Amino acid sequence: VWNNCLQVIKENIGEQSFKTWFEPIKPVSLRDSVLTIQVPSQFFYEWLEEHYVQLLKKVIYQELGSEGRLEYSIIVDRGNDGNKPQTVNIPTKRIPAAVVNSYKPEQSFIKSPFESKTIDRNFLNSQLNPAYTFENYIEGDCNRLARSAGYAVANKPGTTSFNPLMIYGGVGLGKTHLVQAIGNNIKNSNPEKFVLYVSSEKFVNQFIESVKTNNVQDFANFYLLVDILIIDDVQFLSGKDKTQEMFFHIFNHLHQSGKQIVMTSDCPPRDLKGLEERLLSRFKWGLTADLQSPDFETRMAIIQKKMQGDGIDIPDNVVEYLAYSVDTNVRELEGVLISLIAQSSLNRKEIDLELAKQALKHIIEDVETEVNLDFIQKTVAEYFQVSLDSLKAKTRKKEIVTARQVAMYFAKEFTSHSLKSIGYHFGGRDHSTVIHSVQTVSDLIDTDKKFKASIQELQKKFKTKAG
Ligand code: ADP
Ligand code: MG
Repeated sequence: VWNNCLQVIKENIGEQSFKTWFEPIKPVSLRDSVLTIQVPSQFFYEWLEEHYVQLLKKVIYQELGSEGRLEYSIIVDRGNDGNKPQTVNIPTKRIPAAVVNSYKPEQSFIKSPFESKTIDRNFLNSQLNPAYTFENYIEGDCNRLARSAGYAVANKPGTTSFNPLMIYGGVGLGKTHLVQAIGNNIKNSNPEKFVLYVSSEKFVNQFIESVKTNNVQDFANFYLLVDILIIDDVQFLSGKDKTQEMFFHIFNHLHQSGKQIVMTSDCPPRDLKGLEERLLSRFKWGLTADLQSPDFETRMAIIQKKMQGDGIDIPDNVVEYLAYSVDTNVRELEGVLISLIAQSSLNRKEIDLELAKQALKHIIEDVETEVNLDFIQKTVAEYFQVSLDSLKAKTRKKEIVTARQVAMYFAKEFTSHSLKSIGYHFGGRDHSTVIHSVQTVSDLIDTDKKFKASIQELQKKFKTKAG
């Protein structure tokens, strides 16, 4: 396929350019209409994107049809340790612009497609990463509403009352994955629809660029073509008044024409500071759904799914250990899995509990300066003059029970551990015990002045440590 492409390219550009820019390219693979080529450097890749994007689009379209895509793998020179340079393939996934029919405001999408009044939609790229699907988006209590709303929208874009659909949640909880899954799903079942994924940051930059180059009208026209607009991380629009105004018009137009709008944000709309009221009120027209930190079972399922996907066997006790230890967000969990896989292959060792503990060591050290469970348990045990072990033991002695309950109370307040995980770290108690403890302590604070003072004293220690 690549040879055919080269043939066409050769006919279209000068010999010198061909030698310089196309001969060094190595075809790597062709899978599901995605042709991957290897280029010698980042600069090389940028040059191709800048100067030959239209030509590349054309040949890919000729060879692979409208589904055809091109991805780059870039060789990175990392000769900084004195050894001979290493080559590393960067998966294109990490380079968002690496898909050929990506648009650059000043080039491909604004000028060329718009000069001709008939726009070939096959050349419009959705900017979607096909790796994000519903199939590999694990469902759990933490994401049930958001996921099913997303699924409904994917099946009936623009016609449900979930328009706009706004997904919010903290970093690494799966916002981008979910909205991309919506986009991919729609695109697969409605190839004629123009789905566009754009980060708010990119939207802002494109807009600024279009102002600079006097292309604002083209910018707007382009967005008005979209059937399903997915705009990620809208908190980034805050304070950018001119861009917001443009977005407001695009939003209104699309919404009125029954086009679907999907948005994400890192906080609920009411907390989006620096966003115009009229825009915020639009967000409320549809459905707002949040993503929570994944609970223990969901984390287990995510680990299992990821490992399965990579064809890696991992013992159940390791899955459990990881799910208990990493309970912040999915991205962090994935990071741990990657470093675990790396260590296993570097040391040529099977993945077991020992290796998992090693892989987690640096993360656990990282949080040493924070108020973590260990610190809370130690501090509380000391304060109540009971032993650390007794907090985790079965004893029902009154002073130990109190100390244990207080420690759980602070664990809930100062760490991001789930109730389940807190219970686990207190000798394998279940989450209802933790709830009960937190409740008991809260009640005591309200009724017992002396107790309240002790709690405040402890609280001060943790607050100082937390900074
Ligand atoms: P956000 O956009 O909220 O910061 P991402 O969507 O980028 O988070 O998710 C971070 C990583 O976690 C991604 O690799 C994503 O695939 C993965 N992930 C998040 N939620 C889930 C889930 N429910 N099931 C499987 N993978 C998930
Ligand atoms: Mg994201």
